[in-house]
Amino acid sequence: MRALTPHRRVMLLAIVLMTLMSATVVLATASTLILRSRFDATIGSDVPRLQYLLHLDRDLFRGERALEMSLVEPDHVQRTNLISEYERQVDRTANWWDKYLSTSAGLPSEIAWQNDYATQRVAWITSSESLSVLAGNGQGLTNAAVDSQLAITQSDFDSMRSTVYKLEEQVGEPLIDRATSGLRRQSTATVVEMLVLLIVGLGAGWVTSVTTYRAARRQYRASRKRDRERIDDSARVAFEAELNQALDMAQTEDGALQTISLVLDKENADNPTELLLADSSQAHLKQVMSTDRVNRGPGCPALSPSDCPAIRRGTTLTFLDGSAYASCPNLRDRGGDPCRAVCVPVSVAGRTVGVLHTTGPNLEAPDAKLVTRIEEIADRSGDRIGVLRAFAKSQTQAATDPLTGLANRRSFENEVSAMLKQNRNLAIAYGDLDHFKKLNDTYGHDAGDRALRLFARVIRDSLRDLDMAARWGGEEFVIMFGNSDASTAAAALDRMRQNLVIAQAGGNSPPFTASFGVTDTVCGGDLEEMINMADGALLVAKTNGRDRVVISGRSSSQSPGDTAGSHEPTTAGGIEAQDEARV
Ligand code: GH3
Ligand code: MG
Ligand code: MG
Repeated sequence: MRALTPHRRVMLLAIVLMTLMSATVVLATASTLILRSRFDATIGSDVPRLQYLLHLDRDLFRGERALEMSLVEPDHVQRTNLISEYERQVDRTANWWDKYLSTSAGLPSEIAWQNDYATQRVAWITSSESLSVLAGNGQGLTNAAVDSQLAITQSDFDSMRSTVYKLEEQVGEPLIDRATSGLRRQSTATVVEMLVLLIVGLGAGWVTSVTTYRAARRQYRASRKRDRERIDDSARVAFEAELNQALDMAQTEDGALQTISLVLDKENADNPTELLLADSSQAHLKQVMSTDRVNRGPGCPALSPSDCPAIRRGTTLTFLDGSAYASCPNLRDRGGDPCRAVCVPVSVAGRTVGVLHTTGPNLEAPDAKLVTRIEEIADRSGDRIGVLRAFAKSQTQAATDPLTGLANRRSFENEVSAMLKQNRNLAIAYGDLDHFKKLNDTYGHDAGDRALRLFARVIRDSLRDLDMAARWGGEEFVIMFGNSDASTAAAALDRMRQNLVIAQAGGNSPPFTASFGVTDTVCGGDLEEMINMADGALLVAKTNGRDRVVISGRSSSQSPGDTAGSHEPTTAGGIEAQDEARV
């Protein structure tokens, strides 16, 4: 059944209480009516009988008193009035007695006293009438006869009155008893009913109040939780947007790592965090970022991705007790005080290749929000590094000659033009393999490709970091010697030609030589002009017999070994030399 909402519960409580109040009023009214009708039924017939007897008793007393007062009244008129009063009261007593008998004549419990009263009344009427005669005669208290008659009358009166008392008791006492016990019974029942109603009302009120309170509290907590989640969500969205923006601005992997470090400085300032990433072989794990600039902590000793449980499982692992036997061995065996750790795997281009690792006080649970933040940073970092690596790879591919792995013509032009704009001193060499067509024709195109790759490797191995080489096209190459003039470059090219001979000795490439033309920035001009000049020098080298280096603008007739002019063939010779030897 669906739970009632708090306001519906409050409504229900109000309805229940109103119903209970109405029931209380109805019950109280009904009880009062029942009480009244029961009381009436209890006392209904006996009350008039008792009233008749009480009136009778009262009028008897009045009559007797009027008679006795007439005896001591000196005034004749007054005396006569008192005697008249006595007679009137006597009539009234007769009237009340008749009324009593009309309801009670012959009642077994009262018949004896009724008969007694009738007899005693006759006696009293007789004696009192005699006395009234004496009083009417004005004889008063001085007369002995009056005294005697008075005593008789009083005795008759007492007897009669005593009988009336007995009747009153006979009627009155049971009446009072019945009325009292009935009242008590009814009032007890009413009190019990009220108590039951009160208990039911209190119980219903309590149950409804408690359930309403609980439901309201549940709702309040749920709404607070929703509010908190909303706030957390918007904070998370804002954080994600900020993180994305920061990472998007990093154009290199190093830049991205620097950004990650700055983000972690802010988000996890109290604890050191490091990022370990697998190298290109995927066999070694290396720290590539640490927020601890001094000690490079936390210092996870995992050497390969397979050493890290978080990378292996591809899920976040939290180790609360660094010394526990179930903890990561890299944490447990690290030395120093035990610490807790959170390890979040990092995926680059869909492959889990690293871990974001942070430590903290042992046995102190990390804040759930912090863990979520670190996970978010790990996710976004992996994504960004993947994008940057793919971008760098495509850039490298776009800038590289696929056969030789050297830079291509376009990237060489970009790079060297930029250096020339900065007025850097450099030399440019233009190289060409000698009789390469013949080599292809003789040994096949694959052998020609192998020769090109070998030549490229020799160039690469011979260059300094300042230099740059590119395949210009076909079997032609250009080389830039940074911070050099043409003579230095020519010497380097001579060494390179020697290295080519050595490289060919143990390789599977057919023998070949190369010729070079060299120029430098001293001669001036832009890259195109320098290339043309070097190409011109190359032509001289070719014309002069190949397998040599010629510096632009220098005489081709200079003697061999003169590094300022033409540089003679190497001893190995090229394919043409071999042919000549064979001839
Ligand atoms: P020279 O000494 O005067 O430079 O003579 P050469 O034969 O080297 O010059 P030529 O321009 O006549 O021939 C160049 C040859 O280089 C023609 C072409 O088949 C070959 N070549 C160009 N690019 C490639 C390549 O990528 N692979 C192979 N195997 N050969 C290539
Ligand atoms: Mg050529
Ligand atoms: Mg050639």
